[in-house]
Amino acid sequence: MAVKEEIAAVQDEIRGWRRDIHAHPETAFEEFRTSDIVAEKLESFGIPVHRGLAKTGVVGTLKVGESNRAIGLRADMDALDVLEENDFEHVSTIPGKMHACGHDGHTAMLLGAARYLSETRRFNGTAQFIFQPAEENVAGGRVMVEDGLFELFPVEAVYGMHNQPGLPLGKFGITLGPAMASADMFDITITGKGSHAAHPHHGADPIVTGAEVVQALQRIASRTISPMDAVVVSVTQFHAGTTMNVIPEAASIKGTCRTLRPSVQDVVEARIEQVVKGITEAHGLSYTLDFDRRYPVLINTEEETQAATAAAIKVVGAENVVTTHPPTMGSEDFAWMLQDHPGCYLRVGNGEGMDGGCVVHNPGYDFNDNATIYGASYWATLVEQELSTG
Ligand SMILES: [Zn+2]
Ligand SMILES: [Zn+2]
Repeated sequence: MAVKEEIAAVQDEIRGWRRDIHAHPETAFEEFRTSDIVAEKLESFGIPVHRGLAKTGVVGTLKVGESNRAIGLRADMDALDVLEENDFEHVSTIPGKMHACGHDGHTAMLLGAARYLSETRRFNGTAQFIFQPAEENVAGGRVMVEDGLFELFPVEAVYGMHNQPGLPLGKFGITLGPAMASADMFDITITGKGSHAAHPHHGADPIVTGAEVVQALQRIASRTISPMDAVVVSVTQFHAGTTMNVIPEAASIKGTCRTLRPSVQDVVEARIEQVVKGITEAHGLSYTLDFDRRYPVLINTEEETQAATAAAIKVVGAENVVTTHPPTMGSEDFAWMLQDHPGCYLRVGNGEGMDGGCVVHNPGYDFNDNATIYGASYWATLVEQELSTG
């Protein structure tokens, strides 16, 4: 077991890249400065670069030897709309924007690995370094795929990595199979008939009907889906009415559902429609329902999960690789890359407590630079293992 010495030797430099990106956060599809840096660095390592997929996406292609084998390594580059509350030197210089999910670290780690692999060239095949925009909210990964990522840069498998606050430094967490949930959004409008609040029998009340819909939606998880399957149906918005003595015409209900199995996702979607239709029609109201399938379930495939596990073990030892890392109901647009390709998405420990334990998306979060050496060494080891010269 060992981290890569060559990577350890340039750790300060990688930290510099990371902190520079942290200080200049850019959000969805506007990662212009960040993608310039990524492209310049890759080119300076002697790696040919393709730009423009999903607007600001960058792909570096490093071919070594004669083999036609290829794997993809993916990092995300985008920041979040969060006002940073840290006071260190590399704090965000853009008010209201912040690298609160550690994508600055993901970008720096993959650059570190690219440099190492280009210098050492101890593999046979092609490593595709995929830097994508807009992971948060708007699925830049999907846009990369739709823009032809895998037609232009074919790979046998694709791998992703995310930092994990609370997982100790020097540890990896891996989940075989479904690792992160699907994320779908629903938007319901219930339309009735407005009336004087004192004479409800002259109208058709969308608030009372909407309240019944909210209640009934909770029964999808508790009474429709097997208790052995994970499901979340959360109503997060309910808007209706403007004053005290008027029953409004319409009510708007929005929310999200999460599942860990595509078949459950289908049932939840169908069931939501059934519930809304049944209740609104029973009370003589009408409805519209918009169901937006935004992120699929992220499923780590068996062979590639074994490969990722083996590479992580080579870096930190078996005792530091948690192979039963629990799945989460959060979602990840890397799932779009795993839709058609086998692969594995794992976690690298960001540390605990005051040293990297702050949760992501929190205004006090910071990527732990001491995780870089493990993450970059994992990428390098994975390429040497999967595209082995032997
Ligand atoms: Zn995030
Ligand atoms: Zn993230």
